Amino acid sequence: MTRFEIARKRMVHEQIVAQGITSPRVIETMLKVPRHLFVQEAMADQAYSDNPLPIGEKQTISQPFMVALMTELLALQPRDNVLEIGTGSGYQTAILASLCSRVWTIERIRSLAMQARKALDSLHLLNVNIKVGDGTMGWPEEAPFDAILVTAGAPAVPEALAAQLTPGGRLVIPVGTELDQAILTIRKQADGTLVRETGVTCRFVPLIGRQGWQTAA
Ligand code: SAM
Repeated sequence: MTRFEIARKRMVHEQIVAQGITSPRVIETMLKVPRHLFVQEAMADQAYSDNPLPIGEKQTISQPFMVALMTELLALQPRDNVLEIGTGSGYQTAILASLCSRVWTIERIRSLAMQARKALDSLHLLNVNIKVGDGTMGWPEEAPFDAILVTAGAPAVPEALAAQLTPGGRLVIPVGTELDQAILTIRKQADGTLVRETGVTCRFVPLIGRQGWQTAA
């Protein structure tokens, strides 16, 4: 085992399983995906710590526990098509891509999208489409989606995203102020109504766009 594999195994047991994640598919995927390939080389040794880390452009790679929790809440099936808003480093994208059929991911900062593409290609994750733009409007040409994940903090649930869910689809999104949010899980019922459940508190960088915050904090 390499030092990274040892650190990853420890991360999964001490930060993820110990904090209540139980989905065997999520646990198995977190054991496999090399988080150190999604951070700057100088930070590779911190990649398995229980923190978000800077990835440039004032953005962060999310805390591993938060990645596992939001992924578990999406309840992904192997045939699902998933939309992700906020590609960032591409680490969460890689976890999603390992658990479902296809991932459509949108990042507003071009340099991050390009870096993420490289990291995902290095792992031969070919079921990922990346677009640069405002993810608050979703990806209407590819909708509907079985699951939608937003990895930046929103002031409210963007209507465009809820509209792009399949019946039975799940949307997981941090909603609140620019400084703290709660994780919401929203399920679209067969008749189109939305049922929402509020989960843990968290602190994400802001979702900036037409149906998000108007400017960077
Ligand atoms: N999940 C990512 C990872 O594992 O590295 C972390 C994402 S980071 C916390 C949030 C990302 O959302 C940032 O890269 C930011 O540029 C992006 N973002 C913010 N508003 C956005 C928008 N309207 N559309 C697309 N991306 C957006």
